[in-house]
Amino acid sequence: MHVLVIGAGLAGVTAAWYLRQAGHDVTVVERREAPALETSFANAGLVVPSQPDPWNAPGVLSKLLRYVGKEDAPFLLRPTAVPSMFGWGLRFLMNSRAEPWRRNTLAAAALAQYSLAQLRALRAAAALDYPFGANGSIKVFRDQADLDAQGDFARMLAPYGVEYEILGRDQTVDLEPALRDVGDRLIGSVFFPDDEYGDAHRFTQALAAAAQAQGVAFRFGETVMALEADKGRFTAVRTSRGRLAGHAAVLAAAAWAPALARPLGIRLWINPVKGYSATVPLAGWNGAPRLAVVDDTLKIVASPFGGGLRMGGTAEFTGWDTSLNERRARNILTTATSLFPDLAQQAERAGVTYWTGMRPVSPDGSPFVGATPVPGVYVNAGHGPLGWTFACGSGKLVADIVAGASPEIDPSPYSPTRLS
Ligand SMILES: Cc1cc2nc3c(=O)[nH]c(=O)nc-3n(C[C@H](O)[C@H](O)[C@H](O)COP(=O)(O)OP(=O)(O)OC[C@H]3O[C@@H](n4cnc5c(N)ncnc54)[C@H](O)[C@@H]3O)c2cc1C
Repeated sequence: MHVLVIGAGLAGVTAAWYLRQAGHDVTVVERREAPALETSFANAGLVVPSQPDPWNAPGVLSKLLRYVGKEDAPFLLRPTAVPSMFGWGLRFLMNSRAEPWRRNTLAAAALAQYSLAQLRALRAAAALDYPFGANGSIKVFRDQADLDAQGDFARMLAPYGVEYEILGRDQTVDLEPALRDVGDRLIGSVFFPDDEYGDAHRFTQALAAAAQAQGVAFRFGETVMALEADKGRFTAVRTSRGRLAGHAAVLAAAAWAPALARPLGIRLWINPVKGYSATVPLAGWNGAPRLAVVDDTLKIVASPFGGGLRMGGTAEFTGWDTSLNERRARNILTTATSLFPDLAQQAERAGVTYWTGMRPVSPDGSPFVGATPVPGVYVNAGHGPLGWTFACGSGKLVADIVAGASPEIDPSPYSPTRLS
């Protein structure tokens, strides 16, 4: 079978790899000139089955309304974006009730844990060379009630294989000495030893090269304009360079996927939500973080890889405005500096690189992975803030579904039609 994969980010390249492993002819069509130049380019780097909870926890609406108009807020809803978000927003709010949120968290946990196992197997099998760390993440707290709540949350995930250790203040600073300056303000932390972090861009590039060596064809600089179907079945894509026939297509075009699916009557609920990252080189910084640090109060994450400290955060509901807002970008660094005071000096000495990307967010926190009502059209999109964490699991899952093989995890929570 000839399978066309649309998009060469984390989702498209992992899907292409597993499809090829299953014996298909695979062609990836990507409008940019290389893999992973959009959302997968400079994300915060965390591969964290410990953090599968969707953003829309109970109470998210009041949080969003409280932050309207506040440029420095971690969650920012721009009123101009509201009209384009109506159907998606309704589903987002419906899923913020306690029971759906709990169910969605567990569904995401199952995929994230599966994905970590796939990532480790793939890294070894394909001998992928990319910067990563596998010594875990630490989530820090200033308030006993928040730490206790995180302990309960970790216990809820434990049956899914998430290991954790609750640490007091001194143990926290012993494990991550970079927190010593703020140690007296922390009450403790939860350490997740199995979490990883790494460079999603370099990973995707390395995997694309490995896939190409195994026979996957990449067509860069080519935009898919439309999907064609004959008698209700997928036949080809129309691109900026012509027509490309295939037996099946996997839409891995992140937040751009809904516009390609819609003319065939396929409704995908994916909304772009802007985020920022800042990267500061580590060279010359004694006492830089040694593992990934997550601070839910400050809404910031930081991970050291590839010779830099990558920090990420903030969610801006702003429609398709992809511009880099200097103030919000700088705010990432300022916020991280309150966790690692030395960072200010390091940034001044070594410089900072800012980046912005559009997370392809679904209303319930899980991606859309699997078959659509149009035979031959499959989806692997909508991975939201966890696309690196979900990448290998969802790539393998969609490849199994295309092949008609039995998936290794229950695919129903990720069905593209689940919210229709
Ligand atoms: C600031 C920030 C921090 C993040 N941090 C983390 C993190 O720490 N951990 C984590 O797990 N996740 C994180 N994420 C999320 C993660 O980066 C995304 O979920 C993931 O990159 C999505 O991958 P993708 O392949 O679906 O999308 P993309 O990488 O955007 O790939 C989609 C591709 O499709 C192509 N395309 C679109 N339309 C067409 C078309 N018509 N024809 C041809 N090609 C097309 C695009 O050019 C693009 O290359 C973060 C995201 C952001 C923005």
